[in-house]
Amino acid sequence: MPRKVDAVIIGAGVIGAATAYELARKGYRTLNIDKLPASGYGPTSASCAIVRAHYSSWDGVAMAYEGFSYWKDWEQYIGVVDDAGTAKYMNCGTLLLESATGHHEKVLKHYDDIGVEYEEWDTAKLKERMPIFDTHAFWPPRRPEDPRFWDGSEQELPGAIFTPGSGYVNDPQLATHNLQRAAEAKGGEFLFRATVGEIRRANGHVTGVTLTDGKEIEAPIVINVAGPHSFVVNRMAGAEEGMKVKTRALRHEVHHVPSPPDFDFEADGLHTSDGDTGIYFRPESGNHILIGSEDPDCDRRQWVDDPDDYDRHVTEAQWNAQVYRLARRIPSLPIPNERKGVVDLYDCSDDWIPIYDKSDVGGFYMAIGTSGNQFKNAPVVGHVMAELIDRVEHGHDHDEDPVKVTCRYTGLELDTGFYSRLREINPNSSFSVNG
Ligand SMILES: Cc1cc2nc3c(=O)[nH]c(=O)nc-3n(C[C@H](O)[C@H](O)[C@H](O)COP(=O)(O)OP(=O)(O)OC[C@H]3O[C@@H](n4cnc5c(N)ncnc54)[C@H](O)[C@@H]3O)c2cc1C
Repeated sequence: MPRKVDAVIIGAGVIGAATAYELARKGYRTLNIDKLPASGYGPTSASCAIVRAHYSSWDGVAMAYEGFSYWKDWEQYIGVVDDAGTAKYMNCGTLLLESATGHHEKVLKHYDDIGVEYEEWDTAKLKERMPIFDTHAFWPPRRPEDPRFWDGSEQELPGAIFTPGSGYVNDPQLATHNLQRAAEAKGGEFLFRATVGEIRRANGHVTGVTLTDGKEIEAPIVINVAGPHSFVVNRMAGAEEGMKVKTRALRHEVHHVPSPPDFDFEADGLHTSDGDTGIYFRPESGNHILIGSEDPDCDRRQWVDDPDDYDRHVTEAQWNAQVYRLARRIPSLPIPNERKGVVDLYDCSDDWIPIYDKSDVGGFYMAIGTSGNQFKNAPVVGHVMAELIDRVEHGHDHDEDPVKVTCRYTGLELDTGFYSRLREINPNSSFSVNG
C-alpha cells in the first residue's frame, strides 16, 4: 500500500519547512520531500539571510515588517528545543543609502503608512556612525572593466534611511532545521535524498507523487516549494500554462571579505543597501563582510536553463565587480588574494515578486518565485500558505476573492491576491533583489 498523507511539500528549504510547520499546526499530516540530505541544504544555505523591509510595494513592506517580529521572537515561535541549536537574530539595523535609483522614495511612503520605525540620516550622521564609508555618490554603478570605474566624485550622497528593527539571521540552515523540528513536533514528516519525478493527477486534481526510485505517495494536496526547480515542478504538474507570471533560475554570487582591521564591522557594522554602487553588504562572523549584487543594469544577468547544471565557482569578473564596488564605499577595505564566496540560484519571477498561490490544477499550490529576497519572510509565508490552502480546501474561490490573512504580530492584513499567478507584471517592482 502506498504511503498516504494530507499534503506533500516538494522542498525542505526555509519556506518549505515553514509551510510544513504552519500546516501541521492546523492538523494537516504533511510530508516534505527533498532530494538533498537535510533541510535547508539548497539555496537557503547560501542565503545572506538579511531581514529588512525596504520593498517597492505596500504589500512587500508589510510582509517583511511582520517578519521582523518572528525573528525577534524565534524561540517562542518555534516552541521546541532543537538539539542542533537555535538560530539567532542579529539585530544590527539596516542602512538604505539614498541614491539615484529613487528606491528610498517609494519605500518611505510605505514605512509611514505601515508604521515601520526609521530615522533619516544626513551625510554628517552617516560619517559619524560609519567613519569607514566614503559618502560620495558614484552613480551610475559600473563594472571595473569600465575606464570610468575609479573616477572621483565631487557629489555627496543625499543621506540614508536607517531602520533599527532590521538585521540578519546568523545561520539560515539552522533556522530551517529549527522549523523542521517544530513541524515534526506537530506531526510533520521529512523525507530526504528523495526526488519527486512525477505528480500524479486524475480528473484535473492531484492524487500524489512518484519518486524517481518508483515509490508512490498518495496526497490530495501537493505544494511546490522547490526553489529554482519551481518551473520544473510546475511543468510536472501541468500547472505552468495557466500562469501569467512565470519563474526561472538566475545565478548569483555572494563574496566574503575581511573588514578593515581598524573597524569592528561584526559588532558595529550595519547591513547596507547601496544602490549607488549596485551592491548590498552585511556583517559576518570573524569580522568579515558579505557582499551581494543589487543587479545593476551594467551587470549581465546569468539565467540558467538547467538548475542542476551551472558554474558553482566564484568568478574573477564578478568577484572584482562586487568587491571593488565595496572598495569604493569603504576605501580601506583589504582586498584578499583568495576569492571566497558562495554561488547559488535565485528562483526569479518575471517581476521579482513571489507567487504564493493555488494553481489551475486542483490541490496543487505554489510558494515560488522568491527572487533572492524571501528568506526573511519564510515564517510569514508559512502562515499565509497554510491559511490560503485551508480556505481553498474548504471551498473558498481564491481566484475570485483572494484570501486575506491577518498578521499575528502586527495585525496588518495581507491580501494574497498581490502574489497571484494571474496578476499582470507589477510595474512598481524594482525588478531587482529589492523586490
Ligand atoms: C545567494 C543568495 C542570497 C540570498 N540572500 C537573501 C537575503 O539576504 N535575504 C532574504 O530574505 N533572502 C535571500 N535569498 C533568498 C532566500 O534564500 C530564498 O528566497 C529562500 O531560501 C527560498 O527558500 P525555499 O524554501 O523556497 O527554497 P530552497 O532553499 O530553494 O529549497 C528548495 C528545495 O527543493 C528541493 N527540490 C527541488 N526540486 C525537487 C524535487 N523534484 N524533488 C525533491 N526535492 C526537490 C531542493 O533540493 C531544495 O532543497 C538569497 C538567495 C540566494 C541564492
